[in-house]
Amino acid sequence: MTAHSATLAIDEAVRARRAAGLATLHLGFGEAGLPVAPGLTEVLAASAGRSGYGPVVGSPEAREAAAGWFGRRGLATEPEQVLFAPGSKPLLFALLAALEGDVVLPRPSWVSYTAQAALLGRRVIEVPIPADAGGIPAPELLELSLRRAEAAGARPGVLVLTVPDNPTGTVADEQRIASVLAVAARRGLTVISDEIYAELGHRGPVPSPATLGWEQTVVTSGLSKSLAVGGWRVGFARLPAGPWGRRLGERLTGIASEIWSSLAAPMQAVAVHALREPPEITAYVTRARQLHARVAEAAHTRLVAAGARCRPPRGGFYLYPDFAPVGRPLRARGVTTSAALATTLLERHGVAALPGSAFGDPASTLTLRIATGLLYGETERDRLAALASPEPEGLPWIDAALRHLGDALAAVTARPGAQPRDAVARAADVVPD
Ligand code: PLP
Repeated sequence: MTAHSATLAIDEAVRARRAAGLATLHLGFGEAGLPVAPGLTEVLAASAGRSGYGPVVGSPEAREAAAGWFGRRGLATEPEQVLFAPGSKPLLFALLAALEGDVVLPRPSWVSYTAQAALLGRRVIEVPIPADAGGIPAPELLELSLRRAEAAGARPGVLVLTVPDNPTGTVADEQRIASVLAVAARRGLTVISDEIYAELGHRGPVPSPATLGWEQTVVTSGLSKSLAVGGWRVGFARLPAGPWGRRLGERLTGIASEIWSSLAAPMQAVAVHALREPPEITAYVTRARQLHARVAEAAHTRLVAAGARCRPPRGGFYLYPDFAPVGRPLRARGVTTSAALATTLLERHGVAALPGSAFGDPASTLTLRIATGLLYGETERDRLAALASPEPEGLPWIDAALRHLGDALAAVTARPGAQPRDAVARAADVVPD
């Protein structure tokens, strides 16, 4: 049996702590904590009466809107290449089920790829990421890892890429993605390009692996992150044109028909509206992107100040610090694994983050996944103010959260004997809860 997804489990742990009156800074959950974009609630309300099932693949209007959306991003797409689902997570699972072979993953990578592969009885072949950015395997290690895996009896069939990446919050560059795709093409690996964060590149558009020439590349995306409506569960996939893509589409449709039947009809209306990109949607995404970038950058500054090594954030709302440079003081406190580091931060300093071990790193690697998307405020008013602010990191509640993080990090990484006691004490009372 698969354990409860680590990201959902920590969200529940934080809820339980808060319910018990314990101040907790929530850096554990990959949610864009923002209000619904203007216009979407009205569209949803107006379509609440649509109660029929509808086509498994999605309504013709939704497929048309998604095709146009991809087209505007340099990926010419026919509506027949698009398939909708209640979130991209079930689509990823259905894709793995529809495709053959073992699953090649960058390490670290998002928690659910490994869990989904395990549910399907597939082996996972992990390949370390490059030093500068995650979401792809280091190109120079890929071929060797595949050969080793095959020698051990694996049958690599699918390679999953994440651009921009969760957990590292980085964007792999086009040249490296192209090198990885060249190996995939040579080996006949199908590429699943998870682009759920593609709208949130901090420096503008990010390279889509699907534009780089390997035709067996499937893109998954959705509205959960860019429009902060994860709970509405709108996901979609773009299959390649041509006979191979059509055959995959038929298999996927078969799986979808047996599992989710169709995306909820009112959500299809939401997708049509959002994917046609009226100006207020575009403006919302632009502001959200700036907010994520600035707050992730401010958290990055705190992490580096505490002595962690951390790739600068370039997409989404994540950071993946490695505390190896301050391993000594951590070890002196009995912290020798990423799980122990996460537990210490949560139980002693009220900071919830996920251990790197949840993303495939060896237990003793002192990495954490920090998600900054829930720092924007507890109320709709605060979140709107964060979205509108040119300097959101200076808003009192975001500043307090960042100070809480900085103080907690200072406390766990200080040399023993030099424990900044006042900082620890302060950490407990600044939490916006
Ligand atoms: N892919 C990645 C890398 C994610 O981080 C997430 C959500 O956390 C998803 C896919 C799933 O998103 P959804 O099912 O909401 O579309």
